[in-house]
Amino acid sequence: MKVLLIGSGGREHALAWKLAQSPLLTEFYAAPGNPGIAEHATLIDVNTEDHDAIAVVCRERAIDFVVVGPEAPLVAGLADRLRADGIAVFGPSAAAAQLEGSKGFTKDICARYGIPTGAYQRFSNAPAAKAYIRAEGVPIVVKADGLAAGKGVTVAMTVEEALAAVDDCFEGAFGEAGAEVVIEAYLDGEEASFFCLCDGTHALALATAQDHKRVGDGDTGPNTGGMGAYSPAPVMTPDMVERTMKEIIEPTMRGMAESGYPFSGVFFAGLMITAKGPELIEYNVRFGDPECQVLMMRLKSDLLPLLFACANGTLDKAVAVWSDDAALTVVLASNGYPGAYARNTPIASLPGDTEDAKVFHAGTALKDGVLVATGGRVLNVTATGASVGEAQKRAYALVDRVRWDNGFCRRDIGWQAVAREKA
Ligand code: ATP
Repeated sequence: MKVLLIGSGGREHALAWKLAQSPLLTEFYAAPGNPGIAEHATLIDVNTEDHDAIAVVCRERAIDFVVVGPEAPLVAGLADRLRADGIAVFGPSAAAAQLEGSKGFTKDICARYGIPTGAYQRFSNAPAAKAYIRAEGVPIVVKADGLAAGKGVTVAMTVEEALAAVDDCFEGAFGEAGAEVVIEAYLDGEEASFFCLCDGTHALALATAQDHKRVGDGDTGPNTGGMGAYSPAPVMTPDMVERTMKEIIEPTMRGMAESGYPFSGVFFAGLMITAKGPELIEYNVRFGDPECQVLMMRLKSDLLPLLFACANGTLDKAVAVWSDDAALTVVLASNGYPGAYARNTPIASLPGDTEDAKVFHAGTALKDGVLVATGGRVLNVTATGASVGEAQKRAYALVDRVRWDNGFCRRDIGWQAVAREKA
């Protein structure tokens, strides 16, 4: 099978590494890719926002299957464009990608199909939103409806904070994403990420993970795209996984199909495990970054037929086998991230991979033969172990062998799970 992978982050490096192991793969391309992905695939220099240009690449190289990593091209309709040319695609249509692109859309699906989630209302003007906040009281959560790179959500502990968040949205702090606002009840519990493949009518549970969004040790400081993650999430017991499938994933899949937007691709459900059980915080329509890196380290099965089964509707026959080992990834970021940071700082050397530890490239480039850091989040040092604690030790041992003067990382990724293991 000739495969084209779209994307250039650590998530896509992990997917590329795993796809490259498939005996079904005959030719492998990535656009735009990164130096880590280049070890597995031929990189194609094409603007991934130009869907027609990607369609031309597919025609010229006789691509059979396109795997889309990030959400932006999906929300923008890349899967629809390629399917119109008869190309199989892993990833939902633009209509189905609204599950990530519009929080109001997702909440309406939840309400219609009885999916457990915080009570909510949608608003398109500030006075009505503010009146609702005053009536409901705090804590309360204010969300810009559209994609705002994780910045559009305020978990407000005071009424003033909630009212200010409403003003931010309607005064344009998040552009078009804030033209509508969702206000929802605060959910109390432990967060977990749940990943599940879907072909429109069948769902196959993959695995669970937890991530660390804050930049500083002890989960302090500003939010980031994610500073590390581990899998599995101890809070996701077999019973919780079964309830998540029955109460959240299956009704969503049915609801999407009945609403005329059958979903194929990966459901990444952000869950709050409350006293009542799993409740949905949000859906993403692609693998998490950096959660994908830990998932791929634990997946024993061939990834390619699993992803292809989503595209051709045969997921009912697919099986995913997972290692019992835990996996943990530590994100190395440029000094200053998530604020301003220097670009193109040289990475002097990276340690070689071992069977149970690997460095994925997230924001790197080769400039005149020198590996440089080009992004905020730059490397994902990932390891497996019999416990999260063991994976953590191996990952940090590898982190200490990275020679990059301008980088930093958190030193406590996995701390809750490690504390639980020690208890
Ligand atoms: P964006 O759309 O701006 O990219 P996002 O998709 O990351 O944001 P969410 O995942 O919905 O936004 O929310 C971000 C975080 O806010 C969650 O991970 C969770 O910690 C917190 N949060 C969201 N909704 C609730 C809620 N109802 N109760 C408690 N905490 C919440």
